[in-house]
Amino acid sequence: MKRYFFKPGTKINLADWDPNETAEFDGGKNASKNALEKLNQELEPLQELLYAEHKHKVLVILQGMDTSGKDGVIRHVFEGVNPQGVRVASFKVPTPIELAHDYLWRVHQQTPGNGEMVIFNRSHYEDVLVVRVHELVPKSVWQKRYRQINEFERILADEGTLILKFYLHIDLDEQKRRLQARLDDSQKQWKFSVGDLKERQFWPQYTRAYEEALTRTNTSWAPWVIVPANRKWYRNLVIGTILVKALQSLKMKLPAFDGDPKEITIE
Ligand code: ADP
Repeated sequence: MKRYFFKPGTKINLADWDPNETAEFDGGKNASKNALEKLNQELEPLQELLYAEHKHKVLVILQGMDTSGKDGVIRHVFEGVNPQGVRVASFKVPTPIELAHDYLWRVHQQTPGNGEMVIFNRSHYEDVLVVRVHELVPKSVWQKRYRQINEFERILADEGTLILKFYLHIDLDEQKRRLQARLDDSQKQWKFSVGDLKERQFWPQYTRAYEEALTRTNTSWAPWVIVPANRKWYRNLVIGTILVKALQSLKMKLPAFDGDPKEITIE
């Protein structure tokens, strides 16, 4: 899965990254179900260990264009984890109170504590994406945010947070198919928003904004992964595999029992 990471300093041109590729898994869609189930089963005890050890914090950031599959990842990759130790934080259009503060104010409050895993469905990256594309603040303001974001994430990492950032890479045709599928299926129509059609017109501007964000905020302490996401099954396998590996690398241990269990009598 190394191919989906890239060296800090690399200039990202998303046209060079194929959203259709499925190179790391030979089995195809049918076999992917079992593979994902296996990953779910591996993730569950790792998350329990994280919770029990109460030492590390884990932050998973999901970003991508509309319909890129952020909700699907949350549903499928995290299936089976204990809701007690995992939380999803979704970042929508800021409220007036949020807008009255600096852009990281609402974000910092949602970061994980010891033993916790938090999944960001959108994040502070919106503040260099939608905010940039729609000029919600002047360039002189958003330009500084890449550096600020790197420093913010550095604080989190230095204080014991494992940070993984996933960019779900789909193309314009795939977005069209997904929007059409929402329109065609009465069970999915609730997800369709005319606003998504408006944002779709800004695809080139969003692409440029993502390319700059990926280029300037890919750090050793908070790396980006560019996930080929046109195939949902492959997207889930890539994220699940990288997450399981990262959690295994923490070498977590259950806390030692304080005392001798044989000497304890339960009346
Ligand atoms: P989602 O698309 O994530 O399922 P919504 O349809 O409610 O959920 O979309 C959330 C919207 O909030 C997105 O259009 C996103 O660009 C916007 N948003 C998130 N953060 C900000 C921000 N800091 N400033 C402006 N808009 C934001």
